Amino acid sequence: MKNEEFKNILIIMAHPDDAELGSGGSIARWISEGATVRTIICTNGDKGTKEDYSTHEIAKIREKEQLEASAILGVQETLFLRNRDGELEDSRAFRNQIAFLIRHFQPDTIVTHDPWRPHYQHPDHQAVGHATFKGLIYARDHHFLPELTYANINAHHTDNILYTGSTDPNFFVDISETIETKIQSIKCHVSQIGEQYNAKERHYKRAEENGKKGGYKLAEAFTIKTMS
Ligand SMILES: [Zn+2]
Repeated sequence: MKNEEFKNILIIMAHPDDAELGSGGSIARWISEGATVRTIICTNGDKGTKEDYSTHEIAKIREKEQLEASAILGVQETLFLRNRDGELEDSRAFRNQIAFLIRHFQPDTIVTHDPWRPHYQHPDHQAVGHATFKGLIYARDHHFLPELTYANINAHHTDNILYTGSTDPNFFVDISETIETKIQSIKCHVSQIGEQYNAKERHYKRAEENGKKGGYKLAEAFTIKTMS
């Protein structure tokens, strides 16, 4: 599987900032190669502060930050599902939401959290990863969600699913030319990282480690599953 084959990409993440942290360099690269990328943020991020903001205020701030980050990467469209932060479940209703969006946007490639990452991860990441995989199946097989088919929102086969945060990745994207754009996009999330964010070294180090595994100078790492 080559990066150039990804033409229509849906990034499905739990919180504002997850897309940039896990795949910002890849997103910038895919867009520079002509792909259309849409980002779907499943929660409103309203638990994401240690400051004195109300949940309503922090959710608003984080949407604004996400739009700025998406603009830096060149993401064509950013959608907010606004489920409550920390409370996502891999429910039938949530899978249906995702399946609807997959049928609507007809991606060839989906990027989401690896829900099978062992021992530690945010519960929303796990819920989004599981619901996205199941949503992909619901979107693909027309006897799921017959009401969508009646409304001409027809079954859609997604070719690839890429998981971020995997402990055993098997797919690497060269981000040598886009790592600075990635870091700029992460810096938009001021409510999460503060004004004086200086983690450049950490991002380079991580990209070098991934690069070594993938045969590049700097890379982001994924587990890819190509659906037959
Ligand atoms: Zn997150």
